[in-house]
Amino acid sequence: MTIDRSKFAADILSSLGIDSVNPGAFDGTWIDTQGETLTSKDPSTGEVLASVRLASASDYEQVATSTVKAFKEWRTWTAPARGEVVRCISDALREHKEALGHLVSLEVGKVTSEGLGEVQEMIDMGDLAVGMSRQLYGKTMHSERPQHRMYEQWHPLGPVGIITAFNFPVAVWAWNAFVAAISGDSMIWKPSPKSPLTALAVTKIAQRVLKENNAPNIFNMIIGTDAEVGETLIHDRRFPLISATGSVRMGRHVGTVVAERLGRSLLELGGNNGVVVLDDADPDLALRAIAFAAAGTSGQRCTTNRRLFLQKGIAAQLKERLKGAFASMTVGDPLDEGTLVGPLIDQDASDGMMRALEAAREQGATVLCGGSTVDRDGFFVEPTLVEAHWTMPITIDETFAPILYAFEFEDLNEAIEAHNSVPQGLSSAIFTSNLQAAERFLSATGSDCGIANVNIGTSGAEIGGAFGGEKETGGGREAGSDSWKAYMRRQTCTINYGEDLPLAQGVKFDV
Ligand code: NAD
Repeated sequence: MTIDRSKFAADILSSLGIDSVNPGAFDGTWIDTQGETLTSKDPSTGEVLASVRLASASDYEQVATSTVKAFKEWRTWTAPARGEVVRCISDALREHKEALGHLVSLEVGKVTSEGLGEVQEMIDMGDLAVGMSRQLYGKTMHSERPQHRMYEQWHPLGPVGIITAFNFPVAVWAWNAFVAAISGDSMIWKPSPKSPLTALAVTKIAQRVLKENNAPNIFNMIIGTDAEVGETLIHDRRFPLISATGSVRMGRHVGTVVAERLGRSLLELGGNNGVVVLDDADPDLALRAIAFAAAGTSGQRCTTNRRLFLQKGIAAQLKERLKGAFASMTVGDPLDEGTLVGPLIDQDASDGMMRALEAAREQGATVLCGGSTVDRDGFFVEPTLVEAHWTMPITIDETFAPILYAFEFEDLNEAIEAHNSVPQGLSSAIFTSNLQAAERFLSATGSDCGIANVNIGTSGAEIGGAFGGEKETGGGREAGSDSWKAYMRRQTCTINYGEDLPLAQGVKFDV
């Protein structure tokens, strides 16, 4: 399919109420920001899709003040009433799923099914948050003192700062924003400067729903530089929680700044995800899962499979089949049906991949297939399989591109030790038909990651579980399970319904 991409983008943007040059801050009204112009470029062509005027520190102050004000009202709404507003946003996203999904494909280069899938993830997240709004449970405990009752309750925490990465430009906002909203928090979203249009589009949709529900402006947004706007947000003591998704480098800095003011940070950082394949694995299943996890989204998922541990008996066969699978993948326009691998986000990402491969070769690794850029406009690269050893320093870094390092091992203990030897700890998987081996991988002495799978790959998590990882991945958990607790404050309450005043631990203090 050949389409006029800029017209397609303009049509989508105008259907969502976005002009060709937009202000970059929203606090209930669109603020007339006067900063430099940031252009959003289509990574498939390098062509400009639309522009945004960056916000300044004084624009930030306006948005922050209004976010604090919105919190004061929103926290008085009941949690189910807050859930009802999120339900309406899920419905609005259903209405705009196709337009928004295509905008994700245009702005960050995801293939169509993944662009639509990302919007579906927001919808699912909204539906989950609606249920959560009636399940913000506290525990009741028995008091040691007669005629006393003790319980815990959860209150809204405060205004929240949400910093997101380019590679999930809208879903990660939803993971945070919908849970924060039902928890009673207002928020400022600082999206990646590489994906401003999808952030504008989502904010427009959320804004409309807030208005229709007479709700305060809890979903605010600001697009500015890291130095001016990002730094101001993370230092701002009015924001007790900063949730930041991105690189380890960014998280180390944000975590330090927020800790210094004794705030809370929720960090979702880089991964270096490993798959272990034992000789008794189903090779067809392993092949399909690894191919998607390693090359899907052009290797730009935090959960992308970057390290592959193959047991000696299955190694040659799987490497050969992976070479074939990688070579047969259609790399090209993400909007074309049949494309499996879209572009990298920009020239820097493509250069970074080539530098990593050069380093790998210098360290003694062999490129088995791929390894080059694709000769066309945009930032396309070939899915690449590299034969390496896990002690090579390059395999310890997260290179945000489709490079899969394959290693060989003899026994499972050796593989688990090597698997856990990297600083990151996000996602992991084992392929085996042996129950004992699978359970060994999931045990306390097995994978050290926040996510551990059996006979499925490392990427494509469902929102029902808590998502996140250990070590330099930052320790944060977002989305499902009890991750709502990060967005609320816990209060322990003791009620004396008797006429005496017994003290805990038998202490006497009679006056
Ligand atoms: P990045 O670290 O370059 O940027 C992420 C965000 O941080 C952007 O919005 C950026 O503007 C902001 N930022 C950077 N410096 C800042 C500062 N000083 N103050 C405030 N904000 C600042 O990451 P990226 O290239 O956009 O995304 C790719 C990275 O994100 C990869 O490492 C990937 O693994 C990671 N990621 C992790 C998860 C997860 O859930 N663990 C999910 C998606 C992406």
